[in-house]
Amino acid sequence: MFALVDANNMYVSCERVFAPRLAGRPVVVLSSNDGACIARSNEAKDLGVKMAQPWFQVRHLERSAGLIAVSANFELYGDMSSRMMAIEARFAPRQEIYSIDESFLDFAGVRGDLVAIGRAMRADVLRETGLPTSVGFGLTKTLAKLANHVAKTADRKPGTYPADLAQVCNFGTLSNNELEQIFAATEVGDIWGVGQRIGARLGDAGVRTVLDLVRCDTATLRKQFSVVLEKTVLELRGTSCMDLDDAPAARHQILVSRSFGKAVTELSGIVEAVSEFAARAAERLRQQDGAAGAVNVFFTTSAFRQNDQQHSASVTVPLIRPTADSRLLVGAAVQAATGAYRTGFNYAKAGVMLVDLQPAGQHQGELDLFADAEEGVKARPRDRAALMQAMDSLNRRFGRDSVRIGSALQVSNSNEVRSWSTRQERRSPRYTTRWDEMPRVRA
Ligand SMILES: [Mg+2]
Repeated sequence: MFALVDANNMYVSCERVFAPRLAGRPVVVLSSNDGACIARSNEAKDLGVKMAQPWFQVRHLERSAGLIAVSANFELYGDMSSRMMAIEARFAPRQEIYSIDESFLDFAGVRGDLVAIGRAMRADVLRETGLPTSVGFGLTKTLAKLANHVAKTADRKPGTYPADLAQVCNFGTLSNNELEQIFAATEVGDIWGVGQRIGARLGDAGVRTVLDLVRCDTATLRKQFSVVLEKTVLELRGTSCMDLDDAPAARHQILVSRSFGKAVTELSGIVEAVSEFAARAAERLRQQDGAAGAVNVFFTTSAFRQNDQQHSASVTVPLIRPTADSRLLVGAAVQAATGAYRTGFNYAKAGVMLVDLQPAGQHQGELDLFADAEEGVKARPRDRAALMQAMDSLNRRFGRDSVRIGSALQVSNSNEVRSWSTRQERRSPRYTTRWDEMPRVRA
């Protein structure tokens, strides 16, 4: 049995933990440079604010509807994320961090009432971090993801699904009949891995609900769509085709992570690993013509080696401007890893996650202005893009890592240098990661 645990409106919820006045109000979080809405509270969704909608288009709602906008604070979100993940990891033997606010847990071999376990986990996360989550259980990862959708939607929009499935939903406790009713009430577009385009094509073919899709002939789906869609249907029918660490990419992050074959104890090993992961993530980023606004790096010891001292680190470094330049991304990752590394631990796993993704080229006009602030990378924007293109095509032609970024790239130790020039007029303090920005309590 898999569980998918997902924080509700993660970025907004992080802001609300430290600013209770935001509770119950329509709130949006703006991307780097305050350009677009990258997270919305339920109240903002109800006002009709769309995902990734430019801020200037909804700005009038500040006056007319009390909409509140805050600048993204990725350092805070990254830190809150690692706290949340650590709590979730207590509940199952295996965890896969899927994105900044989602993790899969493998409950194979765990006995007991999963709904009760899910509620306890949800309560612990809420009590220890202040973040509300939704928990979905299913026989396969696709079903767990769908159960999570049901848990979240039943909570947010009463009447859409049975009320007792709100917040924690375990498909395993439902009869076939009940499950079919849920499938019939859910659109194909809500299935994990079925994007808008495929959703529309399925709709044209008369396949509108999850139930319609589950009843399709898999061989036909494979022929007319893809093997991926065939696998999705098999997973919806309860046949597991994806293990942990084996999943379609999340839409708003790029994650590259791996468990080490042998424990890594030296900083140089961690630096080598995160450099490689960051370079690989950057390559994927360029393939989808994107740019990242922040880099999250994490590394952790193994909970299975019970005699080992345990340590997990997760650090998010905001970038001066969103970029797809491997040198800057690798540099940020190395900087983050170097700052968070502690001696004396057997590290078992590391990863790099690119977040705050946006289309590349959105900030072309500002490029030269900041060139000097990005140490070690002084080429003109056009030359940089050409360099990255050349690197990608060499690697395609001669094999991965034929050309690599040297991890010796000199990077400033101070995050301040990296973030000073981003326009983030409404950013909240980095409450949990800076001594001088800690919340103050008057008693
Ligand atoms: Mg979420």
